[in-house]
Amino acid sequence: MKFAVIGAGLAGLVFGAMAVKDGHEVVIYDKNPVAGGVLALCEAGGYRFEQGPLLMCDLLPGEPMSDLLAQFGIHLDLMRADRNVEMPDYSMQKPEKYEGPYWRRDRLKELFPSDAKGLDEYYRFYDNMMRVRYNLNRKPSLRSAFALAASFVPVARYSRMTAQQLVEHFFKDRKLQALYTGILADYCADPDEVWGLAVPMTNLETGFDDRIPLEKNGRKFLGGFGYIKGGCQKIAEELSSYITQNGGVIKLNTVVGKVLVENGRAAGVRLADGTFEKADVVAGSGSGRDFFLKTVGEEYLDSSYKNILETYRPMEAVFMVHAGVDFNPVDVLGTALCYCYGSYDLHRATERLRNGEYHDGEDGFLLFVPSYHAPEFAPPGRHCLTVYTVAPDTLKDGDWESEKEKYADHLLERAERYLPGLRQHITVKKIMTAADYRNLTHMSKSSFGGTVPVRHQKNPPHKTPVKNLWFIGQQSENGGGLWAVSGGAAAAYKACIRR
Ligand SMILES: Cc1cc2nc3c(=O)[nH]c(=O)nc-3n(C[C@H](O)[C@H](O)[C@H](O)COP(=O)(O)OP(=O)(O)OC[C@H]3O[C@@H](n4cnc5c(N)ncnc54)[C@H](O)[C@@H]3O)c2cc1C
Repeated sequence: MKFAVIGAGLAGLVFGAMAVKDGHEVVIYDKNPVAGGVLALCEAGGYRFEQGPLLMCDLLPGEPMSDLLAQFGIHLDLMRADRNVEMPDYSMQKPEKYEGPYWRRDRLKELFPSDAKGLDEYYRFYDNMMRVRYNLNRKPSLRSAFALAASFVPVARYSRMTAQQLVEHFFKDRKLQALYTGILADYCADPDEVWGLAVPMTNLETGFDDRIPLEKNGRKFLGGFGYIKGGCQKIAEELSSYITQNGGVIKLNTVVGKVLVENGRAAGVRLADGTFEKADVVAGSGSGRDFFLKTVGEEYLDSSYKNILETYRPMEAVFMVHAGVDFNPVDVLGTALCYCYGSYDLHRATERLRNGEYHDGEDGFLLFVPSYHAPEFAPPGRHCLTVYTVAPDTLKDGDWESEKEKYADHLLERAERYLPGLRQHITVKKIMTAADYRNLTHMSKSSFGGTVPVRHQKNPPHKTPVKNLWFIGQQSENGGGLWAVSGGAAAAYKACIRR
């Protein structure tokens, strides 16, 4: 069969690699000059920066995404990663000397003595959830299904709670509650809208201390986080070379303007220059709304698919300031990644985001040092720093192009709370706004990580109302992280082949 795949981001490359592996003819189209979508690096004044994912889960040896890539002979060079958290008036920084897997619980008991009992209960619940997670990731079998069901019993009573209800169940102090729900604001999700079980899953303790062992009784028990040495673009480079070495074609600088549908079946693609390329199967990625309403055509959709397109909620954009600096920020921060929250009011933060009000750094931001996992990104003796935050795609007041310098300066000024004198040490600066991400991802509304993981959300499914047309990528997956996107693309390919 001949496959046309639209988009050489992670989803398109995984889908294409699977089809090539099975001996199919594959052409992947992407508008950008390099493959990878948001995995591709950007450059400025002799420095390189990550413009997409930073902290990756499920990618360490024995984890699902690593197994997926291993099918194509891809073994990435990884290092474990973790992050510090700065709340408005307390810090959670990993201790210099390892204090065991529960050091955060013990430190929080000192900070919030009236919540000590709740913290003990939360960590018992957390351990039970890690058992569930372990069983979820096991190879499907009758035995693992029983183990999964059994591990779910102790947490079942929490399964109807929202994230907010769950943290209120365990903790009285809202400052403590916000520590566990803060990450949801990154997803533009209000804690009232998200399932409570997402709280332990998005707060894996291994993500706060890279020394916590991942194995228990000889089994890979806990999920860990990693950085890819050499940067995320390595995933795209490795998948691209697997595809092209096995007969697939990747056409870069090529925009697909239309998916051609004949007699209710996908028949190929028309490129922006008018060329028609025939295919038996078409797989598209990118924005669900753009793809179906512009590239495919609304007339081919049924009412239930149209309803999903109208109601699903993509995340918002990011505002990013990349800086080349003449000092090593890791020496000051003690870590390569730091989440700095500016507010405990996550309801207001997500509401502002959705209403197009940029918080101007007030609600929080991240400090990330890509030259930690990839020293070659910076000239000798120099380092890369990225300061970034979630931001609306479209500003209620003003536009990104005219406001970006001012907003970048404000963000850097706020970053000086943690990196004193930062602005005097910047040798190169590159600002990325929603407009840059729209261009990179070919979306008319930039959405940095996929869809908001709210309860009952229905994303555009892989299988579409058009025969042999499949939808893959970040907007078909809740939360849209790397494993969701690559696992989703692999599942879509398998479903497509079965038909
Ligand atoms: C700033 C940022 C931080 C992130 N952090 C994390 C993280 O820490 N951990 C994590 O797991 N995930 C993270 N993510 C999410 C993850 O990186 C993405 O969900 C995933 O890489 C998306 O892959 P994709 O293939 O769906 O889309 P994309 O990477 O957007 O690729 C789609 C490609 O298709 C092209 N395209 C679309 N339509 C057309 C067309 N008609 N013609 C030609 N080309 C087309 C686009 O130009 C693009 O190159 C982050 C993302 C961003 C942006």
